[in-house]
Amino acid sequence: MTPTMAEQEFAFGNLMDITERPEIVFVKGHGSWLVDHRGKRYLDFVQGWAVTCLGHCPRVVTEALAAQAGQLITPSPAFYNEPSLRLAALLARHSCFSRFFFTNSGAEANEGAIKLARKWGRRVKSGAFEIITFDHGFHGRTLATMSASGKPGWDTMFAPQVNGFPKATLNDLASVEALITDRTAAVMLEPVQGEAGVLPARVEFLRELRALTTRHNCLLIADEIQTGMGRTGKLFAYEHFARSADEAPDIMTLGKGLGGGVPLAALCAKESVSVFEHGEQGGTFNGSPLMTAVGCAVMEAMVAPGFLPQVAATGVYLSERLQELVGEFGLSHERGWGLLRALDLGAPGAGPATAYARDQLEKHPGWENTGLLLNAPRPDALRFMPALNVTRAEIDLMIEGAKLALRAVL
Ligand SMILES: *Cc1c(COP(=O)(O)O)cnc(C)c1O
Repeated sequence: MTPTMAEQEFAFGNLMDITERPEIVFVKGHGSWLVDHRGKRYLDFVQGWAVTCLGHCPRVVTEALAAQAGQLITPSPAFYNEPSLRLAALLARHSCFSRFFFTNSGAEANEGAIKLARKWGRRVKSGAFEIITFDHGFHGRTLATMSASGKPGWDTMFAPQVNGFPKATLNDLASVEALITDRTAAVMLEPVQGEAGVLPARVEFLRELRALTTRHNCLLIADEIQTGMGRTGKLFAYEHFARSADEAPDIMTLGKGLGGGVPLAALCAKESVSVFEHGEQGGTFNGSPLMTAVGCAVMEAMVAPGFLPQVAATGVYLSERLQELVGEFGLSHERGWGLLRALDLGAPGAGPATAYARDQLEKHPGWENTGLLLNAPRPDALRFMPALNVTRAEIDLMIEGAKLALRAVL
């Protein structure tokens, strides 16, 4: 007899041990729920790190994937394909960008943004190549994007770094101004620093930063890999600060939610900065119809009437419910934009709380065979990145689970 999934021995030892992982094997997902190999259910407020933006396995994604898989998987990036043209047109219609290069990961999109800014600097600014980035920023795990990131310790981890990423302080304009020289090609930032623990830039700071970069003839690059695609209640987070196309960034990167769960990211540029020449950018899988067809389905869901206002309203509701926890447990505060939020505990405990929520809630009545997935980006903060179509009932259930976990660990 073949063993059931629950009895099966998994060979954990064959995968590179790149992070601490619980010995849970996920086998199924639907909406806000995941199911593991033993049949235990988990309410998922991580959603693959804000990736499965319409929840797990939504019909629009699985249907687009299946239909495209039976039609054309890839003709080669040296030829046009219909879904990538359609996705570029959709993004152009709903943003202030007109040129797109699709990639397979966010880091790859940011690498492209860095290359594009350096190319622009060489072409129009006498070889300017530096890109000012921010302490605690996160831009990916390739060598250049690790160098652009401001995560403590990352400057020496795979030394030598890629040069040319001086670090400023978020929400401190003078710290940016002090780093601007003739060598500066661009300033790059996340409108809300996600991996740092959901630290939003102030809208006033972003407007002043835009004016500063314009004054010094530098590009502004928004890394919207986490904040884009509806996450903050608007299609793109730059819409929170840009009152005109001029005030919007020159370059934006998207990833995570763009593919609704499949590997898809994008480098987006305004016409005047789209300066790659033939041979300077490319990649085997880039812009594949299989992935971009899914991107089209996600975009169409997102721009459907009522969808984004609903995300914004759900974000307000999540914020209100998190504020209740702040009051009840005497925590520091809650923060974030839309459905990218963090609960600041004011003290360590986030790690143990996520472990309790995942593994121990089933001891409580009503939570039989059920867990809750939360994320601790830092020891004193819990991060919430639910599906954008999460229901109020699911938020209520998450709050109940979070309360039990906080009561157990604080
Ligand atoms: C996740 C993330 C990245 C990296 O994307 P990958 O797809 O993991 O390479 C870059 N920037 C930000 C802001 C992110 O949240």
